[in-house]
Amino acid sequence: MDIKEEWVILEEIKEALQNSDQSRAAENIQKYLNKVENIPLNIAITGETGSGKSTFVNAFRGIDKEDDGAAPTGVVETTMEVTPYPHPNYPNVTLWDLPGIGTDSFPAEQYLEHVGFEKFDFFIIICDTRFRENDVKLAQEIQKMGKKFYFVRSKIDNDVYNEKRSQREFNEETTLAQIREDCIKGLQKLGVKAPQVFLVSSFDLHLYDFRLLEETLERELPEHKRNALLFSMPNVSLEIINKKKKALKSKIKYYATLSAAVAAVPIPGISLVVDIGVIVGVSTKYVFAFGLDVPSLKKRSQTTGVPYEDLMDVILSPLAAKKITTDLIIKVVQSVGTTVASMATEEGCRFIPILGIRLAMAFSFTSTYNILSTFLDILADDAQRVFKKTLGLNTSV
Ligand code: GDP
Repeated sequence: MDIKEEWVILEEIKEALQNSDQSRAAENIQKYLNKVENIPLNIAITGETGSGKSTFVNAFRGIDKEDDGAAPTGVVETTMEVTPYPHPNYPNVTLWDLPGIGTDSFPAEQYLEHVGFEKFDFFIIICDTRFRENDVKLAQEIQKMGKKFYFVRSKIDNDVYNEKRSQREFNEETTLAQIREDCIKGLQKLGVKAPQVFLVSSFDLHLYDFRLLEETLERELPEHKRNALLFSMPNVSLEIINKKKKALKSKIKYYATLSAAVAAVPIPGISLVVDIGVIVGVSTKYVFAFGLDVPSLKKRSQTTGVPYEDLMDVILSPLAAKKITTDLIIKVVQSVGTTVASMATEEGCRFIPILGIRLAMAFSFTSTYNILSTFLDILADDAQRVFKKTLGLNTSV
């Protein structure tokens, strides 16, 4: 869905609400949310055998090499196969492990035809030593085809380790700067004008340039694809968690409107009227987006070496690492009910008159809005504590 299409649906929603046509509004909101949440993102990872593609593909998806669906690592490729690896929680996001272009197998143009370049949103060209003529030819061809590419120099942890051992006055910044400069000079010699190279360790995505790569990709992707990238990203920094929270927050008004537009039910024991189905669905999305579901937490434990129980220790919300059901939501809402009922968020209130929601619906809108905001806050806090725990930082719990 592009920006124009998005605008048309949003206008429809507004108009339907202004005409008190709730079913049309609900239908369009659902259509809008389905579209924005299922935008496909296809990322091509290419590089020679052994350069670290599979390990990168697994790390990006938060998957350990032993897990089901992991890209096999440390195996010598003998075929020209292109293998898709969908993200476990976001099947609309796929990382594609491409064979290396090789030295004499295919010219770049034929290679791109063979791998079906049209479907990819961008290419990541990985190498673990220095980029070669073939990498550059490929990059130039990718550019010709109107696509973007990014150079990733992998296994930086190895370089840092080796330098540390061999130098008495080791300085990590200097070492990294040196590697970056060598890569850039090498690429310039081969004819790339202003190359940008990201230094990455797939074993430690939170270190070195992975975050910079994420920011660059996000900036350079078309706007409607940015959230697909953001949500599928592992939580490698507190900023990413905050960005996810902000993006999720901006959608709450639609869910609240949906909840107000459809038949809402009172929560037993408190004076809140909400559509529990919406809240169950959206809370589940939050848990996935922050990697707080049990499989993601287990993977996180495996990939970081921090015991699962230690991660569970820092989780405080009653929603993380649980199957979210109607009963659970009712229980949680009852326990936070009074705070939720008395909270009136500014953005939520401002949105009501814009959409022309009548007063009766406004109560349901406000309740759902506040419940989702509260859930989002507590889950984002959990995600931050889990992230800090995996870094061995004090989580003050
Ligand atoms: P592929 O053939 O390009 O898919 O490469 P693999 O992902 O199978 O990696 C080849 C070898 O390099 C494996 O033994 C990996 O464990 C190792 N490797 C990959 N990425 C890294 C990394 O970031 N750091 C280190 N130290 N080793 C890595």
